[in-house]
Amino acid sequence: MDSNNLPVYPWQVKPWQLIQSMVTTDRLPHALLISGLKGMGLFEFASNFASSILCEQALESGEQCHRCSACNLIKAETHPDLLIVEPEEEGKAIKIDQIRKLVSFSQFQSHYSKRKVIIICPAEAMNTSSANSLLKTLEEPPGDTLIILVSQQPSMLPITVRSRCQKIKISATSTEVEEWLSDKVELEKIQTALASGCGPLFFDGKEELDQSIDRKSLLDDLELMSNKQKDPIDTAEQWSKKQPHETFFWLLNICQDMLKLSSIDNPNQAKLVNQDLCERLHQLAKQYETKGIFNIYDKLFEYHRLISTNTSVKTSTMFEDLTVEWVNLRRL
Ligand SMILES: [Zn+2]
Repeated sequence: MDSNNLPVYPWQVKPWQLIQSMVTTDRLPHALLISGLKGMGLFEFASNFASSILCEQALESGEQCHRCSACNLIKAETHPDLLIVEPEEEGKAIKIDQIRKLVSFSQFQSHYSKRKVIIICPAEAMNTSSANSLLKTLEEPPGDTLIILVSQQPSMLPITVRSRCQKIKISATSTEVEEWLSDKVELEKIQTALASGCGPLFFDGKEELDQSIDRKSLLDDLELMSNKQKDPIDTAEQWSKKQPHETFFWLLNICQDMLKLSSIDNPNQAKLVNQDLCERLHQLAKQYETKGIFNIYDKLFEYHRLISTNTSVKTSTMFEDLTVEWVNLRRL
């Protein structure tokens, strides 16, 4: 199989070949969990795979033919055997009613193709009752149904959901990131991309994400607050005006890096997401007990989960709780 002809990005070739081999050897499970960081093109991967399954004359590489009637229906977004479940409003939860529709969709015979395909994206947007109502279908899916869960935060999914899916992880090596971005963005951005551990699409503008969230300015704020040069309440107010998902995402990464640094003697040995900020993070970590950083990390994790699954939470209150705790936990 020539990897240049595949319908996927270079860093997706191996997982693509893996699932295609499951199809050809008839080992495709009923449920897949496709995960990876931001910028890896997870939804596109899932959607290409769905098209490949539904196409009547898919090529040897698995690519859809783009000519058959199934392909035309997919293009027109009217294929009766494809269901995409996503939050009705961006950043909000996937509601139980949507999962009920999914369950009844899975119970009907496929209309057109041999299989039906359901994509849930982002899967972590299911709230607890949505996830619970999906369980039975995940456990005993009607024979011809394939359920694909797409998630950038698979650890936020209940174990009961995760354990019922075959996991496909998508990541990019630093060479793949550099090669993809080299003729698209300036060098500094490539370095940020490499330091962040995120996928290349996060940085070439293909994924619509708020890039105004700057890791460095979040770290500035954390440093200033712990030196009592900035007020935690003011900081929380500023943070709550930004995109909460991205802010929580980077704060979690910063905290994770600090935890790594607090448990080793030589900071140069740590493998960090924010490698370029290593020295500053190391200095900051020294000002906190490891237990304190864990405390903040747990809160961040819980709040991130909450804003992803609950439509009515107030982010300003969460940020206030975090920044006040941040100041209080600093070693005297
Ligand atoms: Zn086709």
